[in-house]
Amino acid sequence: MATATAPAQTAKPQHAKPKVADQKMLIGGKWVHSVSGKTFATTDPTDGSVICNVAEGDKADVDLAVKAARVAFEDGPWARMTPAERGLLLYRLADKLDTHKTELAALESLDNGKPINDALAADLPLTIACYRYYAGWADKVFGQTVPINGPYFCYTRHEPLGVVGQIIPWNFPLLMQAWKWGPALACGNTVVLKPAEQTPLTALRVAQLAQEVGFPDGVINVVPGYGPTAGAALSGHMDVDKIAFTGETGTGKIVMTAAAQSNLKRVSLELGGKSPNIVFADADLDAAVEGAYFGLFFNQGQCCCAGSRLFVQESAYDAFVHKIVEKAKGRKVGDPFSTETEQGPQVSQEQFDRVLSYIAAGQKDGAKMLVGGGRVGDKGYFIQPTVFADVKDDMKIAQEEIFGPVMSILKFKDADEVIARGNRTHYGLAAAVWTKDVKKALRLANGLRAGTVWVNCYDVFDAGAPFGGFKMSGVGRELGQYALQHYTEVKTVTMAM
Ligand code: ADP
Repeated sequence: MATATAPAQTAKPQHAKPKVADQKMLIGGKWVHSVSGKTFATTDPTDGSVICNVAEGDKADVDLAVKAARVAFEDGPWARMTPAERGLLLYRLADKLDTHKTELAALESLDNGKPINDALAADLPLTIACYRYYAGWADKVFGQTVPINGPYFCYTRHEPLGVVGQIIPWNFPLLMQAWKWGPALACGNTVVLKPAEQTPLTALRVAQLAQEVGFPDGVINVVPGYGPTAGAALSGHMDVDKIAFTGETGTGKIVMTAAAQSNLKRVSLELGGKSPNIVFADADLDAAVEGAYFGLFFNQGQCCCAGSRLFVQESAYDAFVHKIVEKAKGRKVGDPFSTETEQGPQVSQEQFDRVLSYIAAGQKDGAKMLVGGGRVGDKGYFIQPTVFADVKDDMKIAQEEIFGPVMSILKFKDADEVIARGNRTHYGLAAAVWTKDVKKALRLANGLRAGTVWVNCYDVFDAGAPFGGFKMSGVGRELGQYALQHYTEVKTVTMAM
């Protein structure tokens, strides 16, 4: 693989790596082995070594977890709890996570490979804030009194759906769990979570902490395992009322099909993206460089909303490219447990190979590779921060989700053109625009077909701000008040007076 420039590398680790024992799964309040007795290894992406073995769930385990969740939904202390009491449990969980945040950040870094600095600065605070946010909603979810015609009293109730299956990815394990559990539990559902096979550890630890703060048995169940086995059993289960999924668009289609072919369970999906990040020549260029760099390289480029099509207006193009390449050259790649590290390894061999294949495709298609292009070191899944300029819309790297530290820069002339090109994709998760002109900013914000548009910023997340995709980037919205409708059924009650 050709290498333009070697990136900076970090020094020795400064945080201790945690030691982790083998893990069971949580079903009905008990920590149990899988029915089959099988386990799978979760590995350390810095060198591929085994961290520990984890109970491998499959259909039989999912069946048991769904049964436990059903019992807890219909007939346990959870079913009799008031909404305010549910909210209190969520507040207690948030407080508990806060107390354990250093431990959880280390576990997340170990399993996923993300720099511990990032886990401490982003994943943990956002996760804790998400549980607090939904704790506040628990007793504020209610219906309407409806003035219908005739001698009737009509009102609506917003009732929990029942048993909710949730399947999450490996890029933000703690945060995705919070986005799923927060609204589901606030609304009174019970959950069966399948964490990603690459990163099951923090989900299991949070489940343990949830038990400690008093969530009743069966309200929370965690079944680790693989997608085509445990994931498929959950999405196709006849007694699961809803499936919430975050992952690739292709997998989202499989999940939605399974939901349709079983019991028409409710579905919400947060899927892939190829988000346009648009820099006008009148922008604060240094701020745009910072934002574009962060918006692509953050989390090793493993973000569904990564600004992976970076459009720069032609009169600012050369200056912008120069600045961002200089920044990429200085990015510190290395051990996630070093506090100096800005970029850790990709999560797995599979992702590592996939990202390198996209780099090869960029070169083959004739994009100009200005920095990076190869692996860092000779073990683990470290990839050099890579920047391609002069990328054309029809190149593979401009069309497909790479999910790695690979930036593609495209040139544009004016607003109309860039809106059209920005929208020429099946995805529609996020977009951003950088300009000092308010009218232009609003025109772009209205014209771009994406669930989130950032203006003069990137990757700003808050539990209150809904997130999700237009087009093939998803179905429904997570976060904010909007997520609540995906965890409740509306019941209309009409009474003759
Ligand atoms: P990625 O390529 O980022 O791992 P996936 O969409 O494959 O994205 O994975 C996201 C989650 O979906 C993981 O928890 C994975 O195990 C699960 N998954 C994968 N395949 C299936 C499937 N056929 N049915 C249900 N879940 C699946």
